[in-house]
Amino acid sequence: MPVRFPDFRLGNVLATSFTATLTERCGDAVERIPTPQRLVDWLAVSGLAVQSCTPAQLELARELRESIHAAATAAATGGPLPAAAVRVINDRSLQGRAAAVLTPDGRRRWQLGSASRVEDALGVIAADAIGILAGERDGKLALCASPTCRAAFFDTSQSRTRKWCDMNTCGNRQKKARFKANERKNPRPAK
Ligand SMILES: [Zn+2]
Repeated sequence: MPVRFPDFRLGNVLATSFTATLTERCGDAVERIPTPQRLVDWLAVSGLAVQSCTPAQLELARELRESIHAAATAAATGGPLPAAAVRVINDRSLQGRAAAVLTPDGRRRWQLGSASRVEDALGVIAADAIGILAGERDGKLALCASPTCRAAFFDTSQSRTRKWCDMNTCGNRQKKARFKANERKNPRPAK
């Protein structure tokens, strides 16, 4: 039987979709890129298809992921950016080779360097994180209100009051928990 891996949580912001490849960081953490092949799969669905991935490149990817998470958490809570995380993000950005190209229907696509290496894809993700961390994009970094999640996400809602990293997971779970708590407090009369 083929091994089943955890599915991906894809959002519309590249950098925070990438940090969401590890979820429930403050609970029972779920690693969604447990093997080099799963990183290849994630990059492919994120428009950054690479040729191959070694265990060392997977480590590099996870190091970048945790650095983005650390920097985004600091930014969301108004703390200073951790120097080690900034260094990793900058290194990955500097060492990737990729160019933005325009498709015939007017959309942007990333063209990785001729060898389509993992490093090139990580460069694009690092640059995306830099754009968000530098406050260049319209939105605000925030932390998921779920105590077991605390994922950093990019809030682009008009009021900037989004509470959950993902309405379908954390938001929904909270809604259900609240419903259950209400039922306990106000049990329906037995008929
Ligand atoms: Zn969450």
